[in-house]
Amino acid sequence: MTLVDQIRAAGVVGAGGAGFPAHVKAASRVEVIVANGAECEPLMHKDAELMARYADRVVDGMRRMMAATGAAQGLIGIKAKHAEAIEALERALPGSGVELRILGDFYPTGDEFVLVHETTGRLIPPGGIPLNVGVVVQNVETLYNISLAAEGIPVTRKFLTVAGAVPRPLSCCVPVGVTFSEVIDLAGGADAGAALLVGGAMMGYLTRDRDQCVTKTTGGLIVLPGDHPLVRRKERPETAMHRIGKSACDQCSYCTEMCPRYLLGYDVQPHKVMRSLVFSMAGESFWSQWGALCCECSLCTLFACPEDLYPREACQQSKRRLKEQGLKWPGTGTLRGTAEVVPHPLAAGRRVPLPQLVQRLGLAPFDAPAPWVEVQLTPARVRLALRQHVGAPAVATVTAGTRVAAGDLVADVAPGALGAAIHASIAGTVVAAEGPLEITAD
Ligand code: SF4
Ligand code: SF4
Repeated sequence: MTLVDQIRAAGVVGAGGAGFPAHVKAASRVEVIVANGAECEPLMHKDAELMARYADRVVDGMRRMMAATGAAQGLIGIKAKHAEAIEALERALPGSGVELRILGDFYPTGDEFVLVHETTGRLIPPGGIPLNVGVVVQNVETLYNISLAAEGIPVTRKFLTVAGAVPRPLSCCVPVGVTFSEVIDLAGGADAGAALLVGGAMMGYLTRDRDQCVTKTTGGLIVLPGDHPLVRRKERPETAMHRIGKSACDQCSYCTEMCPRYLLGYDVQPHKVMRSLVFSMAGESFWSQWGALCCECSLCTLFACPEDLYPREACQQSKRRLKEQGLKWPGTGTLRGTAEVVPHPLAAGRRVPLPQLVQRLGLAPFDAPAPWVEVQLTPARVRLALRQHVGAPAVATVTAGTRVAAGDLVADVAPGALGAAIHASIAGTVVAAEGPLEITAD
């Protein structure tokens, strides 16, 4: 079995939140593998803990990816502040051909375009992917899972952080398919009225539903009081966001001047996208084009805009509209209209330090360590979403009543489709095989 087959069989997907099937990346030919250990979402800590505890696995996954793709170079991007993880990686590196690239504590260093530039000096072409400059990027947890896949061990567990308004913030590893409620209990529980930011304050989504389940891409939960300003900001209906933006945007362009993609040299200009809010469809599509290369990092909405408006959401809407109309970016996508991407001369000075972002988000009272805890979670049931990845939902290979052991295949990639296999995270009996697949424990 090749590594590509092993990764596909183990159901490995991008664990940093993207969920892209990892076997597809392993099948490419590249010059450099970059491990994303930047972990720049405020209060999130699970990647640092994973690297500190499982450095050998991360480096082994890296080495295997380099061999499979023909990459001559392997680089791990990690922030200088994660001293324990750096020490552990340095012990695991000798003889591997893998090197560390030490990063500053800025947001969003983990954005693929930023990370590839910071670690390799290469700039991905506008609208392109790392492959276009000979690079594959994998999250460090994905590399850990690739190392296990090479030994025939499928993905059934997820590393995550529980932080915020909980008595004991922690980072841990839990079975895929347990409820948010069970995970929050590990951190000492939370008030009934609390809200959850799933995956992070900047790029995650808001919910109050604790019956939702952990998937292969759930990086963590930030628990916040139900009336926290960040919760109120995110709970506003999209129509209200755009209505306020239409009347209150004074075109100061701070959103653009702080945008990490703009500062790298791409033609992302959210202040122009804000103008689309006042137009009917014809004018709207013209102004919308400046949001086409936005990575949805939220820096404009949650940090830069002095009026507390929603330029990111305007960019999201504009991308949806352009797609619906079948319109493509008409220009070069670079700021100077040249084929080459040239970073803004003030880019380094305008990076946003994480502590400043934490302060601006009102998260400083919750900025506590979330140390590693070995947890023993034995759920009575798990629910496994059939789409935990980019691509088509997996197709169940079991029916109600099937008895499964932990690690058994329960859903496979749809024939001819992009997707990932799913495995039982506990031993038990399948009680529902349609929609989320449900298993009750023995
Ligand atoms: S920062 Fe806010 S007010 Fe200024 S242009 Fe952007 S959206 Fe408008
Ligand atoms: S969300 Fe805002 S700051 Fe981030 S890339 Fe998009 S436009 Fe730029």
